[in-house]
Amino acid sequence: MLNKLSDTIYYLSNQDDKDRPTLGLVCGDRYSLIIDTGNSTQHAKEFLLEIEKLNVPPIKYVVITHAHWDHFLGMNEFDATVIVNRQTNERLKEWQSYQFDDDSLQQYVNTNQISAKCMEIIQTEIPNRDVFKLNSPDIIFEHTLTIDLGNKVCLIESIQSTHTDDSTVIYIPDEKVLFLGDAAYGTTTNSLFHFKQSLLAPMITDIQKYDAEWFLLGHESICDLHEMTLYWDELVAASQAAQSTSLENAVDCFKAEKQRDPNDNELFFLQAFVNDRIVQS
Ligand SMILES: [Zn+2]
Repeated sequence: MLNKLSDTIYYLSNQDDKDRPTLGLVCGDRYSLIIDTGNSTQHAKEFLLEIEKLNVPPIKYVVITHAHWDHFLGMNEFDATVIVNRQTNERLKEWQSYQFDDDSLQQYVNTNQISAKCMEIIQTEIPNRDVFKLNSPDIIFEHTLTIDLGNKVCLIESIQSTHTDDSTVIYIPDEKVLFLGDAAYGTTTNSLFHFKQSLLAPMITDIQKYDAEWFLLGHESICDLHEMTLYWDELVAASQAAQSTSLENAVDCFKAEKQRDPNDNELFFLQAFVNDRIVQS
């Protein structure tokens, strides 16, 4: 079932056991816009079935927040104009050359082009895989794009991110709602989860430019401003304490600064920033 955030904004919650991210729907007087297309044909179809139950204007636009498979593999199900930033478009080109039969998928897993989990989802949730080819996007933007759906303006912008260097966010000013995709998360390099320390402050600056009160995250669904501010505070404190490749030093530094032990989130972030030092060294 779709969650209703306002009269014009809905979202389908993330579903972690199926690697399904949050999907968004923004409706103007004339058109509707989709945020992320789901991780598969099946995910997209289920989303579209839910949308059909609402009496909303036709879907004219689809925005893909970044080129991670779980956010775009449902793309072909949408008869709409697909919008991505230039970096995302470059990454999607590789996927457009992929074949989706079992042998090809296994080969991509062997060469680390896709994960085993990705292969499993494709095999179970994309029918007709032998002829499946990923569509190409229709509109490629640089930095920023504004779309009016009919009394409903959407700002579509590239931001700096600790997750990928192709992150797009969608801001709906009159609702104060910001769709972040996975932008606020960390990333994995050589099996090591880390938060790119050098990009944390620029990312927070980019996100706090918006006067948002509600934040939709790819794998958390929704956060209010208070929760988001707490998240930034924990990340910043952890980043400041992680000044070397030693977790022990980082924890000591955190305790000295805060006069308390880190909580579970902060400990997780401390490890992630220490890992970033390891990745960068
Ligand atoms: Zn992602």
